[in-house]
Amino acid sequence: MRRPMISARLARGLVWALALVPVVFFSIGLGAKDFSSASSILNTLGRLTGVLGLALLLLAAALSARVPGFDQPFGGLTKLWHTHHLFGAAALLMLLAHPLLLALASATHGHQLPVKVLFPPLSDTATWSGWAALLLMMVFLAPSFSFFGSPMYERWKRIHALAGPAIILALVHTFLFSRTMPVNLDTAIWTLFALLGVGAVAWRLIFSRRAGRVTHTIVDVQAVANNVVELTLQPARPERRLNYQAGNFVYMTPLDKSLAAGHGEEHPYTLSSSPTEPNLRIAIKDLGDASRAIQSVTPGTTVKIEGPYGRFFPTSGETSSPELWVAGGIGITPFLARLRHLRALKQAADIHLIYAVQDEARALYADELRELANAIPDTRLTFHYFYKEGPISADFLTTTCPDLDQREVFICGPLPLNKLVQEHLRRIGLPYSRIHTEEFELL
Ligand SMILES: Cc1cc2nc3c(=O)[nH]c(=O)nc-3n(C[C@H](O)[C@H](O)[C@H](O)COP(=O)(O)OP(=O)(O)OC[C@H]3O[C@@H](n4cnc5c(N)ncnc54)[C@H](O)[C@@H]3O)c2cc1C
Repeated sequence: MRRPMISARLARGLVWALALVPVVFFSIGLGAKDFSSASSILNTLGRLTGVLGLALLLLAAALSARVPGFDQPFGGLTKLWHTHHLFGAAALLMLLAHPLLLALASATHGHQLPVKVLFPPLSDTATWSGWAALLLMMVFLAPSFSFFGSPMYERWKRIHALAGPAIILALVHTFLFSRTMPVNLDTAIWTLFALLGVGAVAWRLIFSRRAGRVTHTIVDVQAVANNVVELTLQPARPERRLNYQAGNFVYMTPLDKSLAAGHGEEHPYTLSSSPTEPNLRIAIKDLGDASRAIQSVTPGTTVKIEGPYGRFFPTSGETSSPELWVAGGIGITPFLARLRHLRALKQAADIHLIYAVQDEARALYADELRELANAIPDTRLTFHYFYKEGPISADFLTTTCPDLDQREVFICGPLPLNKLVQEHLRRIGLPYSRIHTEEFELL
């Protein structure tokens, strides 16, 4: 089954179009005097970048809402958050240009005003609130840019919380000036956008923590390898059993205070269980302090589960077009869930799974994968060992799976593997729309 890529494009397109709504109203209010001189053109551009920047900032906040299901039209939470990051970056660019253009406009006009824009008097709350918002924005967005290196996730999250005050200050700034759009529209439009942005942040911080998180008890802990455990989680109340699809992920927050790290911290993990199982299963690789600590968790302790999120596969357990799956390391989890589901449904599926690992000892679930591939008609499994064959090559892909150009491809693994396989596929001529990826990256 071909996944509906159009819907993801349409969803993204609609949000970008929404960002232009204030710009359209702003433009309606413009007159000949706004373009009568170099100074007035710069002033108009300065105000325009302010309007667009604020709209992008508020929509970036709205896109950060983690409401199960809301991510679906965007192609899953990782893709939705990619759009959120783009909006954040575009907002920063616009809002940096905003005071510079206004200061330039004043200077061109021959006034003392650049000084007023750049160094406003203390009593000028309207301008100061704008500067404070911009400063906070630069602080909370800086760690998101790879230029500053890979951020520590928990620290990044704390700094990112400055987005709240930045948004409020930006709104104060706009309402105090209140001259972005024709009469009365200012208040109506910005209130609507503010409700979207602030509502999403409130949902994330308040409601999702209370209503969205379900208590589960860890009923089993299985060592899959020396640095990977699989937890089995039972909902505390059977009626709160999670309804999910193979390939979905959840946020898990351990409540065990005796853990060496990660107590009370939420982390995303893919469900490795089949949606038909009564309990959830999650396989966790030791990749940092919290995931290392969870390796020694004991049955009987509780966790909170929030989700499901993501849309890696088109629909749970169903497949009608042939597929090629490429997994790397712990990136096997969504594929494992799907295979477990296909076997539970006793369904045939034309799937070729290539599992890339360093060596035989690092192939997680190797025996179960072989067993699943044997049990599911038309499903094949190939291991790729880095120590023997080096990085996956285009040759390897086409030799192992000669009809790959007929297949829908799904990739999940470390970023370098993900990128490499995508490059090979693109060179072979596979269109983007046939390549689907899941990234275990910062969310
Ligand atoms: C959609 C998705 C599905 C995932 N599925 C699995 C899975 O099935 N099994 C598994 O072992 N791991 C999975 N991960 C990765 C897992 O979330 C991280 O390994 C874990 O959060 C690391 O936390 P830490 O405190 O141990 O490590 P840290 O030392 O904090 O970080 C180690 C690495 O994990 C990243 N990371 C840390 N916290 C988060 C977070 N909250 N969100 C995203 N990335 C984070 C960091 O940026 C860093 O690259 C998944 C990640 C995502 C985004």
